[in-house]
Amino acid sequence: MTNLVIKRVNESKLTRTQLAHLVVARALASGLYGAEVIPANLPYPVVAAWEVGTKRVFIHPIRLDKLSTTVNSVVHETGHLSSGFDDGTKGHTNAMESVSNILAGLVNSGKLDELLTKVVW
Ligand SMILES: [Zn+2]
Repeated sequence: MTNLVIKRVNESKLTRTQLAHLVVARALASGLYGAEVIPANLPYPVVAAWEVGTKRVFIHPIRLDKLSTTVNSVVHETGHLSSGFDDGTKGHTNAMESVSNILAGLVNSGKLDELLTKVVW
């Protein structure tokens, strides 16, 4: 997405749960194309965005309240990052499938087990 006013959120403003989910999101994203996750306020109704030309994903703190929504946003946005395709395209759908497979592999590897003990689904 482009032309959004994105304001980085100071991580000291996040709750402990949101921070735990941010840590998981970062672990996932770095395993998915080396993407970086940044908590940010985005213009309503946008809750997450990706940046063309970088590997940055912005996520609204509201999406960090539950790990399920955090993971959805990470998969959705890294699907854009990895493919370059926009919403509603076959290319984006295919990319999200690939990202989900990588994600499942990461979870199955057990590398995230310690992190996953601190989350709210
Ligand atoms: Zn999208």
